[in-house]
Amino acid sequence: MSTDTKKRVILVGAGPGDPGLLTVKGKEALCSADCIIYDRLASPKLLSLAKEGCELIYVGKENHHHVCPQDKINALLVEKAKQYDVVVRLKGGDVYVFGRGGEEALFLREHGIDFEVIPGVTSAIAGLAAAGIPITHRGIAMGFHVLTAHGKEDRLSSIDFSKLTDETETCVFLMGLGHVREVAQKLTLAGRSADTPAAVISCATTPLQKSCIGILSDIADKVEQEQLISPAIIVVGNVVSLSTKLFDKAAYGNAALEGKTYIVPVIKGLCNANPSLGALLREQGALVHEITVGSIERVPFPMESERAPDWMIFTSRNAVESFFAALIEARRDMRFFAKTRIAVIGDKTAKALEAHGVYHDFLPTGSDGSTLAEEFAKVIQTEDSIWYLKGLEGSKVLAKAFAGHKGYREIVVYENHDVSYGTEVLDTMCMKAEQADGIFFTSASAVRRICKMQMSLPREVYSIGPATTEQLTQYGIHDAAQAKNPSYEELVRLSVTANCTDR
Ligand code: SAH
Repeated sequence: MSTDTKKRVILVGAGPGDPGLLTVKGKEALCSADCIIYDRLASPKLLSLAKEGCELIYVGKENHHHVCPQDKINALLVEKAKQYDVVVRLKGGDVYVFGRGGEEALFLREHGIDFEVIPGVTSAIAGLAAAGIPITHRGIAMGFHVLTAHGKEDRLSSIDFSKLTDETETCVFLMGLGHVREVAQKLTLAGRSADTPAAVISCATTPLQKSCIGILSDIADKVEQEQLISPAIIVVGNVVSLSTKLFDKAAYGNAALEGKTYIVPVIKGLCNANPSLGALLREQGALVHEITVGSIERVPFPMESERAPDWMIFTSRNAVESFFAALIEARRDMRFFAKTRIAVIGDKTAKALEAHGVYHDFLPTGSDGSTLAEEFAKVIQTEDSIWYLKGLEGSKVLAKAFAGHKGYREIVVYENHDVSYGTEVLDTMCMKAEQADGIFFTSASAVRRICKMQMSLPREVYSIGPATTEQLTQYGIHDAAQAKNPSYEELVRLSVTANCTDR
């Protein structure tokens, strides 16, 4: 399978949108990748499969604005293939159904780079199924055509419509949302009956899925009325009529946060979580305004010490990344710390360490400072030297607990800086916050900063955990809803539940 250590690129089909429609092989490839190069159609949730330290590169194409031209993507693939053992090129749907997957594969071949292809579930078939339309059906459609409607300079592609007149064949057009009227007219002119069933399915297999069902003569008007958004598939043929019987309303298209607007204060870290909270909320249909309220910056750590400590404590991923950056700067490596044992708080911190090839020796049973202090005190010796690598504003709990321990030392390796805005920008942000339905706090420092900006908070206030809620209380906000466990997924679930009971 795809896990030997030879350097290579794996072209992976991400499926049509629902992250559950990734293949088992595709999942294995994502988990093993050192670098993932992905585009817009791949679900943001798939990126959470990436291991800690995996480089994530977005090369998406937003409508007609190519974020990254194809030749740059090709060159990037070759460059990253040389740099890493496993590079995954994640492409929406199936790798080779449009989207220029074949060109990427040829380019790799020409440059002598080994690659593997893991096919994906294509939207051209699965997108229809999700709307209750079987692409073929005995007695109704004996086959199908899949075509691109997107031609040069945003015009309709040069399709020979005279070949698409057979009533027993389904026609599927990708990249055609801007050309629905023209496609319908040309098919009719070519000889397909004006009352042939036709549908346009937008954001198939996602919570945002929405479809218009009609006939060739009225489908364009319906799409305009409903203001369907891209990506969308056009499907024409008698199989479309089966959707009234086969469409499962409960499966897709239940974007629970549609119509909701949320504010998400963010702190730009040395390693940002993927998917971001904003991406998860957007996936549920919410409109999200992210406000950067802080940024994590390294504090140089000279590492002049002659002796490595007996213990090091890490309680955040930012501390881990800062430490390793300092190590490289000092031209040292982990051999210097060969005898040092390592204590961490939190699985994410542990994973960040593992990405640097270091396993922890001690992980307390709870993910708070007091549990660490209490349990850690039992494993150390009185004469042990201990370095706690932390952020400037980090918890004081350990300092208190080890005040009497001679060898205990705190080393600040990063700072959480304020971000300041001019009055005009600030006014716009405050206005947005006032009009929003809710705000999500994922740290106590975000609470402090938003409150300093004197924003009037929206009605729904969400908090990721006890320390954040405590900070909110200190600012007089007592009705925040707190996540059961400190994860973005849990925060999203909380808002979805709140909105279900609202309606
Ligand atoms: N390789 C992809 C297709 C890439 S071309 C695949 O196999 O699915 C991009 C087009 O695919 C979009 O313009 C749209 O027509 C279609 N598409 C992809 N995902 C879609 C989705 N979730 N819903 C509707 N159409 C989708």
